[in-house]
Amino acid sequence: MNYDVVVIGEGISGLTCAGHARRAGLSVATFEANLFGGLVLNVNELDGYPGAESGTDLASRLMQAAAEAGVTSIQEEITAVRPAGGAFEVVTGAGNHGARQVVIASGARLKKLGVPGEAEFEGRGVSTCADCDAPMFQNEDVVVVGGGDSAMQEALVLANFCRSVRVVHRGDKLRVQRHLADRAGAHPKISVMWKSTVEAILGGKMVEKVRLRHDGKIEKIACAGVFAYVGLEPSAGFAPPEIGRDAGGHLLTNDALETAMPGVWAIGAVRAGYSGLLRDAAAEAERVAKAVRDRLD
Ligand code: NAP
Repeated sequence: MNYDVVVIGEGISGLTCAGHARRAGLSVATFEANLFGGLVLNVNELDGYPGAESGTDLASRLMQAAAEAGVTSIQEEITAVRPAGGAFEVVTGAGNHGARQVVIASGARLKKLGVPGEAEFEGRGVSTCADCDAPMFQNEDVVVVGGGDSAMQEALVLANFCRSVRVVHRGDKLRVQRHLADRAGAHPKISVMWKSTVEAILGGKMVEKVRLRHDGKIEKIACAGVFAYVGLEPSAGFAPPEIGRDAGGHLLTNDALETAMPGVWAIGAVRAGYSGLLRDAAAEAERVAKAVRDRLD
């Protein structure tokens, strides 16, 4: 099939862009290899987003709006995007589709900690979804790894259930929005271990402790759960090599959010320079939908 616009990714930015582009009269298909919604599906309380609904509610609302507008949703993984006679070809395991413009909104995934025990205890104390799993750690001690917004936001969720939440951070200061730092700092169950790195997750059937290096010394801390929030890595393996990347693999764009390949745009967490704020992902999506429509006029 051929579309005016192919949007890669059905997260918040992709669904927002697709809905706007379709309502502007373009034929639009979204491609998604996993469940629609992206990372916000694991967030019950969206922070700083108008309406303050849950991530699942927001994603469902946008998905429904896109479907009602007439966006075609295709459950296939894109493996390549290549120029084809003044337009583009997007390639999936099931075949090829044509697109006059391509919007890459494929988002990012949580980085792994990469220590022994992390994979072994996945689902047995190791988790990356505080909102899903916090009730299983009622009155238990847990460790959160990281010193960014995700670590603080999820520590606050865990503190509603757990006996204590120890945030293990490799640095000596947090890189966190003020309101999250203030709330976490004031919470009696949350404490931060500075200059500390988790070296291994240990246990028997379930997680029992972490081994960490704290201020140069090895320590073991008893805990029933370990939640690592050590940043995101962009999902951009399929993007053409001609599109430049930053050191973290995020796609480079100009101020208009177009990549070095004219007609291919990038928005949201896959893009270098994205703020990390959901409202900015939605704003980028709306801007690019309009730019794509203007380009195709
Ligand atoms: P992030 O901002 O990149 O922070 C990652 C944290 O993990 C940093 O403190 C970093 O330490 C640490 N870290 C990185 N690699 C590590 C390793 N191997 N071992 C131990 N620690 C490691 O990631 P994030 O917190 O997931 O946030 C991602 C984006 O989403 C950000 O833009 C954020 O603002 C946004 N976000 C927003 C909200 C919200 O608006 N409420 C909520 C969540 C996330 P260093 O500081 O030493 O580098």
